[in-house]
Amino acid sequence: MTTDCDILISGGGIAGLTAAAVFGAAGFDVICVDPAPPITARDVDGSDLRTTAFLQPAQELLERCGLWERLAPHAAPLQIMRIVDAGGDLPEPRLIRDFRAADISDKPFGWNLPNWLLRREMLAQIDGLANVTFLPATATTHLTTRESEARVALSDGSLVTAKLLIAADGRGSNIRKQCNIGVKTWRYGQKALAFSVTHPTPHNNVSTEIHRTGGPFTMVPLPDLDGQPRSAIVWMEKGPNIQALLDLDVTAFEAAILERSANLFGPMKLIGRRSVWPIISQLADRLNGQRVALIAEAAHVVPPIGAQGLNMSLADMTCLLDLATNAPADLGSAAMLRKYHSTRWPDLKARVSGIDMLNRVSMATNPAMRDLRRLGLKTLHGVAPIRKLLMKAGLGAT
Ligand SMILES: Cc1cc2nc3c(=O)[nH]c(=O)nc-3n(C[C@H](O)[C@H](O)[C@H](O)COP(=O)(O)OP(=O)(O)OC[C@H]3O[C@@H](n4cnc5c(N)ncnc54)[C@H](O)[C@@H]3O)c2cc1C
Repeated sequence: MTTDCDILISGGGIAGLTAAAVFGAAGFDVICVDPAPPITARDVDGSDLRTTAFLQPAQELLERCGLWERLAPHAAPLQIMRIVDAGGDLPEPRLIRDFRAADISDKPFGWNLPNWLLRREMLAQIDGLANVTFLPATATTHLTTRESEARVALSDGSLVTAKLLIAADGRGSNIRKQCNIGVKTWRYGQKALAFSVTHPTPHNNVSTEIHRTGGPFTMVPLPDLDGQPRSAIVWMEKGPNIQALLDLDVTAFEAAILERSANLFGPMKLIGRRSVWPIISQLADRLNGQRVALIAEAAHVVPPIGAQGLNMSLADMTCLLDLATNAPADLGSAAMLRKYHSTRWPDLKARVSGIDMLNRVSMATNPAMRDLRRLGLKTLHGVAPIRKLLMKAGLGAT
């Protein structure tokens, strides 16, 4: 059986599902496929316990496609980004600097939401769009392209032809490999532990990044749980240290997070599981193939610093959406996809390089390097125009 559509999306992770909602709302006929069953509850095996902080431009895209209305009631606003240097002899703060959203805009920097809940709401949104079909338990297998279309074989034996194939099939993208697009990968020997906690001291909508060694320890606000302040934490460390933290029983683990959080929020209570994520940086050599656009982790991967990963992916989608709606007849044409590559790639390259550098600085074990890091933070924060420029760049301004 062969089905025709405007856009086939390979991958129904958060990026692929968002793309399905975005292009569906714009009136395109969309099919999205993913071999994995979507997990839409928190307390079940395999649920994605990470959270995503959507920055201002990402929120605008979610609003434009109607998704924001569903997400807003569950979102915690981020008004202040607090950077703490705890790189001295003792695990305690020796420099604290705040970056305030109010200095550059009348909106929060962003809004934080749990990933499992994003999947639930995105699937519900897609379900209400007659022109979008989501096929779980189905993978893209073989790709052939010609000037006029992409022809994609699916794992259920069917064939789809599309004017545009969007590859949102993750860092090991099958579509990217079939297009013979190479990647450059940076490895750190580092992993991230993601989990949630309640704590006695309120977070006051402040996102706090604490630097000591091994990588940042980042606490991002979530809405209160049963009247208790709650935060999502990402703790980055060398791989063997993450394994040792995972092996600790809950009491010992809670003692370890209290120390690593420099006791800024009081004793923390772990909620649910701890999950581990490998950390790399990666950038595809190009974002376009014949009738193919790479987006999200199929195109770029960064360590979770400054909430950039998925926000860069939503910027990919905004760019593609603008090109597609400005000239619908050119959907998937070589000219459209060349423009997509030339618009997005320089910004992606700069962000991947910048985050790579920040991660290496945060990993520093040498005391002299840690002192230099503290001085760098103090200096950059102390000059108001630079501070504002950094905040705007973090939000996506180029
Ligand atoms: C600890 C942590 C915290 C993070 N926090 C933030 C944050 O606060 N803000 C932010 O912006 N970003 C954040 N990120 C980054 C963000 O989570 C990722 O960018 C995002 O989850 C990746 O989404 P994706 O859809 O590109 O990839 P994936 O989630 O990997 O999805 C790819 C999908 O493709 C499917 N697939 C694979 N092969 C095929 C095939 N052949 N056919 C069809 N489908 C296929 C897979 O089953 C999968 O569902 C964080 C990352 C980590 C590790």
